[in-house]
Amino acid sequence: MPTDQPTLEVQPIAAYSDNYIWLLFDPQTRRAFVVDPGDAQPVLTTLETLDLDLAGVLITHHHFDHVGGLETLREKYSPQVYGPDNPAISGIDHVLAAGDVITVLGLEFQILEVPGHTLDHIAYFHPAQIPLLFCGDTLFAGGCGRVFEGTPAMMHESLQILAALPPATRVYCAHEYTMANLGFARAVEPDNEALRQRIAEAEATRGRNEPTVPSDLALELATNPFLRCAETALQDSLAEQGKLEGRGGSEVFAAVRAWKDNF
Ligand SMILES: [Zn+2]
Repeated sequence: MPTDQPTLEVQPIAAYSDNYIWLLFDPQTRRAFVVDPGDAQPVLTTLETLDLDLAGVLITHHHFDHVGGLETLREKYSPQVYGPDNPAISGIDHVLAAGDVITVLGLEFQILEVPGHTLDHIAYFHPAQIPLLFCGDTLFAGGCGRVFEGTPAMMHESLQILAALPPATRVYCAHEYTMANLGFARAVEPDNEALRQRIAEAEATRGRNEPTVPSDLALELATNPFLRCAETALQDSLAEQGKLEGRGGSEVFAAVRAWKDNF
């Protein structure tokens, strides 16, 4: 029941040059989960500073900057580790698939399969109260992950799954790529007023050296070109650039993704 649910704190732990390892913890019990610990050291430092015990780890996909700290964290804390069905990731205790529901510090999370960036990519969605989404490298603030292992059609379909979540969903992605993403978005949709406002706000945020994430899905739907493939203005912009192959959703997505890859 919503009234019985704990209030969790969620905060980013910076890692490498632009990764965010998300930390969730219950301020009462001091139990914590982390999402995609690519590097153990900043996680260990944060857990010690905040006096937290690591109860669990959520993994979204197999890339090293998302799993590189797993072994060290397992040795020190023996957390329960949740992740996708991929034998290349060692140390997963609970293999997850679409439709599974897990409990994280008293909150239920649904598992979504969102292949494209990698074939094993999953996302974690908590639907109640303020909905929370941990989406790794699938959806970014203002952008989306590169299509390394899947196809553009597959990635488009995965993003459509995320786009259909409640607009109030807080989107916790794994990188601070926002300014570069928004610079590209402006090239695609120069007349998008919501985008213009978002860029001004993000510039101010980065000017204070603060994270631009989490964002929320309503803002992504209004400004992220990878979620706006059905918009005529966006399609016309692609056409003006000679990049439009067709107006089907996955065709438009493929054209936007290819443009960004060379931007
Ligand atoms: Zn990745």
